[in-house]
Amino acid sequence: EKSGYAKSTGMYFSTRPAFRIPEEPFLSFTQYMFAHSYGSKIALVDAPTGKTVSFEELEQQVMALAAGLGSIGVCQGNTVILIAPNSILYPVVFLSVMAIGAVITTANYVNTFPELERQIQDSEARLVVTISSLVQKVKKSGLPLVLMDEDGVSDHVSQPDDAPIFFLSNLLRSDSSKAPPVRIHQEDTAALLYSSGTTGMSKGVIISHKNLISSTIIVFSPLPPAPVDEVILCVLPMFHIYGFSCIVCANLCKARTVVVMPQYNFESMLAAVGRYRVTVLPVVPPVILHLVKRQPGRQYDLSSLRDVGSAAAPLGKELMEAFMKMYPGVQLSQAYGLTETSGLATLIFRQEVMCIGSSGKLVSNVKAKVVDFDSGRFLPPYEKGEIWLHGPCITTGYFKKNEATMATIDSEGWLHTGDIGFFNNEGQLFVVDRLKEMIKYKSFQVAPAELEAVLASHPEITDAAVIPCPDEEAGEVPMAFVVRSPGSTLNEEKVKSFVAAQVSPYKKVRQVVFTNAIPKSASGKILRKELIQLLRSKI
Ligand code: AMP
Repeated sequence: EKSGYAKSTGMYFSTRPAFRIPEEPFLSFTQYMFAHSYGSKIALVDAPTGKTVSFEELEQQVMALAAGLGSIGVCQGNTVILIAPNSILYPVVFLSVMAIGAVITTANYVNTFPELERQIQDSEARLVVTISSLVQKVKKSGLPLVLMDEDGVSDHVSQPDDAPIFFLSNLLRSDSSKAPPVRIHQEDTAALLYSSGTTGMSKGVIISHKNLISSTIIVFSPLPPAPVDEVILCVLPMFHIYGFSCIVCANLCKARTVVVMPQYNFESMLAAVGRYRVTVLPVVPPVILHLVKRQPGRQYDLSSLRDVGSAAAPLGKELMEAFMKMYPGVQLSQAYGLTETSGLATLIFRQEVMCIGSSGKLVSNVKAKVVDFDSGRFLPPYEKGEIWLHGPCITTGYFKKNEATMATIDSEGWLHTGDIGFFNNEGQLFVVDRLKEMIKYKSFQVAPAELEAVLASHPEITDAAVIPCPDEEAGEVPMAFVVRSPGSTLNEEKVKSFVAAQVSPYKKVRQVVFTNAIPKSASGKILRKELIQLLRSKI
């Protein structure tokens, strides 16, 4: 069937060719990436300066840094936290950590210290890799630091009470033959990327070397060779699975050039497309909105652009249509994935026709079920239910969180995504709603549980619940339902600023509704769905 649906089992199979995932037990993602040598071909370009790194140089830097990390005591199994904006050194850091069998965890550098501290503790990080402007914030962790952006004179400077500070530039001068000899199993953890999953606070999603290797194989392998060399622009943060796996890892493994921007800025992004003749621009829905609403001026040469992809949050039909009208020569496509799938689970290729509103077809080697929430029945095309996914790229669970793992991944390895959707007869997925609590503000995850805990810490707040509220620009914004203590004169502004003072800017509560009670289940769980329904009925 074109839909890939097998009635007998109720499963949707990928209609793309299946691929062989390397079977050797001992293989790291870094070894896999450098198994082929692409020599002097450009791997990375620093967009602001134009500085380039060839594949050969990338491998040399990664192996030297692997030795350097070993020389300062990073061992197999240790966790290293990377807190920095995008740069051409970012992939060098995470690939070298993986090369010695250590574990990389990445954090949003705008996070507050308490937010970072929670991740440092939870991931059991032993070393922080960061940039000089963040030192004041992160040195409170008491962990040794490696600075990515400064040339140090001596190997490390050590103030009397401070943990040592090392310079990446020095570590990069290490003798790569001295890298610690390690045997890395494909099933070993390569990365811990943080996501709130279906419920509660942010958790470390365990991404193994095998998950990453298979993700890079199954996502892009069926793609026919491009008529021109592809140049991909990375404006999305590399700390998130989208930038980390789908943009950087997958494209470098396919010998494509990745142009790196430190952060998103609309005009700089357009200028970079022209300057580097970018062919592929992977973005998130708010960037598509900018491309449609802010109409790039004639000074920007976008003639090289062939593909614009959107993922990480839903892209509205109207916006898709408006984009296609404005940029007729560019193929717009939507893809769908989760941190828990180590990258993309569905997408559409250039030569395939995409249904407006769809997120594309299952990637190779991945199966899905659409499950009726009440009856547990597996649903045929066009019927909506929870999307379950199965395949070699699916995480084995959350770090040190057995309960959350068991609630999300069943005994047969099916990931219960917490998303609601359906497949059509062509095997294209439509994601229509989210069962889980997660809020996506400009595609950044915000966990309601985290904001509820902040709200509950206010002396005049007796109870609170947080839900997503639709917003044209951001997709969703956090909205708080708040119960005040008797006699309290707390107003909306005071609630907003109380939260804003404690969380990173993208997590701010943007709307407040005062109420008498928060709906709860018999077991005391907040019934956020009821509040969401209430909000929808009002809109
Ligand atoms: P993250 O782990 O941050 O990538 O978040 C994963 C979640 O983002 C999914 O479970 C969906 O709720 C949402 N998401 C990702 N891609 C799409 C898409 N194309 N359409 C709708 N929601 C999406």
